[in-house]
Amino acid sequence: MSHLTLVPTPIGALHDVTLHALDVLRNADVVAAEDTRRSGGLLAHHGITTPLVRLDAHTIPTRGARLLAEHDHVAYVSDAGTPGISDPGADLLRIALEAGHTVEALPGPTAFVPALVLSGLPTARFTFEGFLPRKGSARKARLTAIAERDHPTAVYEAPGRVAATLRDLAGVCGDTRPASLSRELSKLHEETLRGTLASLATATHETPPRGECVLVIAGRDEPASDAPSTHEALPAHDLAQRLASVGVHGRTLRDALQALGVPRNDAYALAMDQRDDA
Ligand code: SAM
Repeated sequence: MSHLTLVPTPIGALHDVTLHALDVLRNADVVAAEDTRRSGGLLAHHGITTPLVRLDAHTIPTRGARLLAEHDHVAYVSDAGTPGISDPGADLLRIALEAGHTVEALPGPTAFVPALVLSGLPTARFTFEGFLPRKGSARKARLTAIAERDHPTAVYEAPGRVAATLRDLAGVCGDTRPASLSRELSKLHEETLRGTLASLATATHETPPRGECVLVIAGRDEPASDAPSTHEALPAHDLAQRLASVGVHGRTLRDALQALGVPRNDAYALAMDQRDDA
């Protein structure tokens, strides 16, 4: 019987890899990788010379079982992050379990965790949605589930689709639902924008984000989209307090208030008040 280790790899900075992960990559009989060029760079950076073979979503069903049967210890790395999280790692793990091999998953980098923490939203409970279906009733059902949740949801999205997804989310969750967009985590141009679904949709429509993106959407503290929008139902001061209570502050709070129709000077003063209160 063989042993399969799923090895997390950096989502950006090459030194975000554990000593344990490097030991496994160095001592396994073979490293199977979703993308050998990318993983080859990581192995070379750390002076690791273990044989590297390609095993991606297309080849796992046809070659996965044989590769496991042929080697005592297989280390699997996906493109980035933790294999099994929104990548083909879970398929290989299932094949290994069905064949009776032993399996192990090392802890390590994954993109949604820093994005969730950086959102500033409560993290005691959350849902990870991965990639949403691109269209149709399956997409609608997942968007509706996000709208109804009482805790934050993390979503992976391709940069070219972020603005459209934020618009769709605003359509079901309401414009004022707090949210964040983290991109290029642990890379040179890392950035997290915090605001409302409407303000983030506008910002990303005007300037499409570059690089890899994670969206985090707050739970349903705000009225549903078919109820009057928050700024119609609440005085601007209460609105500012609510946004501040879920971590929207400073310039982001000012921009969000303006996007909700609060006049520029009032939005500025309210954002300053919240800073003083904090
Ligand atoms: N297995 C990976 C993990 O553990 O997070 C996820 C793989 S999935 C194919 C790739 C998606 O992860 C990207 O489209 C993006 O949503 C997210 N992602 C990966 N690296 C990221 C980064 N450095 N910054 C922001 N998002 C990232």
